[in-house]
Amino acid sequence: MQLIALAGNPNVGKSTLFNALTGMNQHTGNWPGKTVELAQGHCRYKGRAYQLVDLPGAYSLVSHSPEEEVAESFLRDGGADCTVAVCDATCLERSLILALQVMELTPHLVVCINLMDEAKRSGISVDIPALERQLGVPVVATSAQEESGLDALMERVRSVCDGYAPLQPNRCGCGIRGENDRRSDAIAAQFVLRAQELAQRSVHHEKSVQSSTTAKLDRFLLNRRSGYGVMLLLLLGIFWLTIEGANYPSAGLQWCFDRLGELLHRGAQALHIPATVAGALLDGVYATAARVVAVMLPPMAIFFPLFTLMEDFGYLPRVAFLMDDRFRRAGACGKQSLTLCMGLGCNAAGVTGCRIIDPRRERLIAVLTNAFVPCNGRFPALIFLITLSFSDGSALLGAGVLTLCLLLSVFMTLAASKLLSRTVLRGEPSSFVLEMPPYRKPRIGQVLVRSVRDRTLFVLGRAVVVAAPAGLVIWLLANIAPNGTPLLQSAAAILDTPGRLLGMNGAILLAFIMGCPANELVLPILMMALTSGSLIGAESTAAMSQILTAAGWSWKESLCTIIFFLFHWPCTTTLLTTFRETKSKKWTLLAAVLPTAFGCVLCAALNLIIFLFT
Ligand code: GDP
Repeated sequence: MQLIALAGNPNVGKSTLFNALTGMNQHTGNWPGKTVELAQGHCRYKGRAYQLVDLPGAYSLVSHSPEEEVAESFLRDGGADCTVAVCDATCLERSLILALQVMELTPHLVVCINLMDEAKRSGISVDIPALERQLGVPVVATSAQEESGLDALMERVRSVCDGYAPLQPNRCGCGIRGENDRRSDAIAAQFVLRAQELAQRSVHHEKSVQSSTTAKLDRFLLNRRSGYGVMLLLLLGIFWLTIEGANYPSAGLQWCFDRLGELLHRGAQALHIPATVAGALLDGVYATAARVVAVMLPPMAIFFPLFTLMEDFGYLPRVAFLMDDRFRRAGACGKQSLTLCMGLGCNAAGVTGCRIIDPRRERLIAVLTNAFVPCNGRFPALIFLITLSFSDGSALLGAGVLTLCLLLSVFMTLAASKLLSRTVLRGEPSSFVLEMPPYRKPRIGQVLVRSVRDRTLFVLGRAVVVAAPAGLVIWLLANIAPNGTPLLQSAAAILDTPGRLLGMNGAILLAFIMGCPANELVLPILMMALTSGSLIGAESTAAMSQILTAAGWSWKESLCTIIFFLFHWPCTTTLLTTFRETKSKKWTLLAAVLPTAFGCVLCAALNLIIFLFT
């Protein structure tokens, strides 16, 4: 089987091309000797089988980021029979820099000019034959998203693999590395100049409808005044749709789980299963897992697709642009707002996403503060508490309060970043180039698949896997009563004083501590602690409100619990990810201590203020 490697800048459509060529025949795994995971797959063309490897996206092979080193060493080892250098037709000059560097390392090359459809819409045309003549290797035009040009690409790949393509690569001839820094700079400059020259000769611009639409939209969305307004309105709209839309499916799911729970209980009785075993399995494992699904699934199934829609439309880099200034003033990197957005889905994903920030100091700041934004495990609980005490039955008011919570999170992220950059992570913020892709019409089908399969079901699956065994442990603690008092309640009593100092109580603090495997467990644990171990009947929001009111819950507890939900230690998965990314116990510990310290100070201060003024 012949091996084809795909190389290119980030965002040129490499993955789209890889998916279009390999279909379902793909997996990711470590390539022998490489530590970074590479996507691999295979495809057939004219009766031949080819193996494809998607190399990490890189801007240059001259510099030293881990991704770029993997791509370079793969190409240098000569592992591939043919390398496809994927370029972006809408900014050919920049893509060609990498293609020229690849050409220095291997003559077995096909240059693929992708995103031709978008270039056409932007009034850009590329003279493919002229480019081919100047480069001396096959050049093919594709639109990977529309699966057009793929046959032509495979035909040229075949000609290179089988050795009958007329290859006379017109190299810069300078290698890609110099012995010293100055020489490296000179080499890098040569590639830039050559790419400029090639682009000038083969790219033609006309004024287009799309680029002027993008420019008009950007004038509005990137403007300091209107930009922030739109950002807030979008947030408010997304939250409103999530809260309003989640009510009915949540109630439906709870009803189904209740009925199924009753059936299971009856079945257990009919089969004479001992009460303790049935209790542990049904009231512990089943009820906790069911609660997590009923509370989490509907908001996630609405929030994730909306969020992915924003991503697909090209709005997220605009958020980073708007927020850049604020983060710089906090001594951090503007790209942190992107990792912060990823954290809204899952903090562990946000921490991994911090790899997009290059300087180590700024990456650490982003890692340590990621848990300051609420992840999806926390959103449903926040929505519940807001609905319980602050929304007065109006989804719009609820969305407003949730937006305020998020603004507080962002504000505290900036405050914590500033604190870090003034103390343990001192230094100047670096500059970076942010790509501003044109606005793209979101592909609804793909958005749904990506958000439901890759995000919603993934997060939900993880939550259930953690919730089921945790449910058993919690049930045991709620039902084992050595001196007549269940262990859960004894522990809650011990924690009551610190809990009350923070404006909550012992049961809530205990729920936070025991919920460390996953934030979505906190509410079920609290319910178990308050209902002496049975979650059945505590599934519906109304029933939960009754239980809380009976336990003397007031708006003060709701407020302080909301604040503590926003700022406390990250879940175990996020902490493990932090350790994996920083390889340091010290930074991992700080990632847990920092938000907790913020939460404790805020809650204690609020509690004191409420005590003094009410
Ligand atoms: P990668 O970072 O190089 O792997 O880029 P992706 O494959 O993730 O593509 C980046 C974005 O460009 C995605 O939104 C794709 O849907 C879009 N895209 C990729 N190829 C094309 C294309 O040929 N035409 C258009 N219009 N969009 C494309």
